[in-house]
Amino acid sequence: MAKTFKYIILGGGVSAGYAAREFAKQGVKPGELAIISKEAVAPYERPALSKAYLFPESPARLPGFHVCVGSGGERLLPEWYTEKGIELILSTEIVKVDLAAKSLISAGGETFSYQILIVATGSTVIRLTDFGVEGADAKNIFYLREVDDADKLYAAIKAKKNGKAVVVGGGYIGLELSAVLKLNNIDVTMVYPEPWCMPRLFTAGIAEFYEGYYANKGVNIIKGTVAVGFTSNSDGEVKEVKLKDGRVLEADIVVVGVGGRPQTVLVKGQVEEEKGGIKTDAFFKTNLSDVYAVGDVATFPLKLYGELRRVEHVDHSRKSAEQAVKAIKAAEEGKTVEEYDYLPYFYSRSFDLSWQFYGDNVGDTVLFGDNNPASSKPKFGTYWIKDGKVVGVFLEGGTPEENQAIAKVAKVQPPVADVNQLAKEGLSFASKI
Ligand code: FAD
Repeated sequence: MAKTFKYIILGGGVSAGYAAREFAKQGVKPGELAIISKEAVAPYERPALSKAYLFPESPARLPGFHVCVGSGGERLLPEWYTEKGIELILSTEIVKVDLAAKSLISAGGETFSYQILIVATGSTVIRLTDFGVEGADAKNIFYLREVDDADKLYAAIKAKKNGKAVVVGGGYIGLELSAVLKLNNIDVTMVYPEPWCMPRLFTAGIAEFYEGYYANKGVNIIKGTVAVGFTSNSDGEVKEVKLKDGRVLEADIVVVGVGGRPQTVLVKGQVEEEKGGIKTDAFFKTNLSDVYAVGDVATFPLKLYGELRRVEHVDHSRKSAEQAVKAIKAAEEGKTVEEYDYLPYFYSRSFDLSWQFYGDNVGDTVLFGDNNPASSKPKFGTYWIKDGKVVGVFLEGGTPEENQAIAKVAKVQPPVADVNQLAKEGLSFASKI
């Protein structure tokens, strides 16, 4: 017998939690909504896993960071879902989705059917074993996506006190994890093939600051090469990392952060796709009127830039979820909501640092401010200028007001007459907009 719900959210991550809150706000009757998640816990703020979750002193733990605390909202404990009559179906992996039959089948053989489905399956990590890297299945080689992964890494950090870690990948996961490993007194070496860290967002000038800052904190950085193999000890635990350039690094722990992939496999071939994600309209509706996709898996119209994009960041996962639910509820009353008009926003925190980025990182760049890694209070940023307008802004060390000011600049896209003048004005240009 299938369990039937009016609405099913497939996935129990950030989007699912924010969607549930929006459903409750808009009015949902007990028994109408279910969240099905392969995780064992209610939706939580995933970014905490690579930050406070691994702190050496008073690390963050659930229930402390259930959604929606990450955006300053109410913390939705498991009891909240019970009170609202929202069914949290946890530790349940869906292995088959039949969009024509409107049904989902779990690994345990249960069937769920729906009237409206919201796909919120997020991303999965890319593993070195996917490429057949020699020895990549050794113990103590970690990936980080879910709370279970973070628990395993935390246990290894405790077990390998004062040990050595190699962090493979120079993206935000690599940077954040290198910082927390170092805070745990682990000797850290980062390895990445690109000429500088976070190359998808950072310019050489931005990266120079972070690499210098990390080096001052004692993090070793090896660029321009990749891990091609691992050796292990007699317990099967990783012992060495072999690099393509011939170097061999000792390691008690390896953390790999080489990117993610949207989890669209369950609906592949059943729904339109674009740019690796599930194609949606400005209301996160797919080409099927009863199927929505939100968060990391959605490829949606980014109105500000007139193109379809997929965004793998927490702010968008929250806002897309809210937009989809508002649209679903409005449609039931024959109404519509405004189109999604998103301003891309990413952030990261590590050590005492904190940066924010708004807008689009295309065009020419202008670096401003104090980007000396040895400064006691570094504050610097970068403007991206395209067709004579500022389209993106990055700021390290901004106050809340300054971060609001750069967000406004990215949204308003003010014209720039003189690039040298902009470099000179720096942050005060943003404060005037
Ligand atoms: P997720 O939050 O990943 O949720 C997907 C859910 O679906 C999970 O619960 C998963 O178990 C479940 N699921 C998947 N497949 C199935 C299935 N077949 N059956 C049942 N359940 C399934 N973004 C930032 O902007 N700033 C940051 O600092 C930042 N830090 C991050 C740190 C880490 C460690 C990670 C992993 C991500 C970070 N992100 C950050 C990205 C951000 O967390 C994601 O963009 C966001 O979580 C996406 O939300 P989502 O709901 O689409 O997916």
